[in-house]
Amino acid sequence: MYQILSVAALAAQKGWKEWRFYNASFFLMAVPIIFLYGICIGSFLNVVIIRLPRGESLIKRSSHCMSCGAKIRLIDLIPVFSWLFLRGKCHSCGEKISARYPIVEALNGFLYLACFAAFGMNANTFIMCIFASLLVCVAFIDWDTMDMYIPMLLLIAALTIPSHFATHMPWMERIIGMFVISVPFFLIGEISGAVIKKKTGEKIRGVELGDTILMACAGLLLGWKAMIPAAFIGIILGAVCGLILKRSSGESKMAFGPFLCIGLLLGAMFGEEITRWYIRTFLQEPDIYMLLTSLVG
Ligand SMILES: [Zn+2]
Repeated sequence: MYQILSVAALAAQKGWKEWRFYNASFFLMAVPIIFLYGICIGSFLNVVIIRLPRGESLIKRSSHCMSCGAKIRLIDLIPVFSWLFLRGKCHSCGEKISARYPIVEALNGFLYLACFAAFGMNANTFIMCIFASLLVCVAFIDWDTMDMYIPMLLLIAALTIPSHFATHMPWMERIIGMFVISVPFFLIGEISGAVIKKKTGEKIRGVELGDTILMACAGLLLGWKAMIPAAFIGIILGAVCGLILKRSSGESKMAFGPFLCIGLLLGAMFGEEITRWYIRTFLQEPDIYMLLTSLVG
């Protein structure tokens, strides 16, 4: 108790924005709480990922077994643990329950922990947790349906407003972030679309419009320093996994969104450090970073 008070006192001293994990016992106490909070939200994300593409209501109707339709008991609704306890089977018909449910829940829990580790305990962390959860939904829905749910992308852009008050990132940095990746993506999509249409008559774009809008919305929230590494990580991951998929199953159509989402998360957490490290290492000129920063926000 004394330690909690001393951390609170330190927080008051340093200001709420500087409130990080100064204290090991506080950290140990916070980890399970943050994780449990994350997996409970993750449980709701499962509902969103399954129901949104089908146009079903997110709040009406309680959860039910996918094969026998049995209502899921309250005791079986505990995230992750219920699935482990039931050994991944429905309590009434014994049909397998997809391992994806506990995976999404645990993933969201770990993402919240990663956000708290990366940003400390402040208002921006909560915004980044919401951002991470939205990306989980965007990624899984894109993987399932090869489509993005545009209102969800606009929600990411809307996070810019609370983020503005939490981080005081210059608007110029956000506006450049909005266009720096989305414009090239749009052009690549348009040009490749025109070429493919001319050659085969099919209406396929190299980069989908949804991916472009995702990069514009996330760019507004994160700023350009995070977006450039985010896009590189996403493109490289997507290309490698696309090649593996093509080699192993001959499938050439694959959702690009999930890889962009991984890139965006890593970009949000480490983007500024990656950009700074890149400029310092390869351009051998630390002042260029300062110059770039002063020129473009
Ligand atoms: Zn069942």
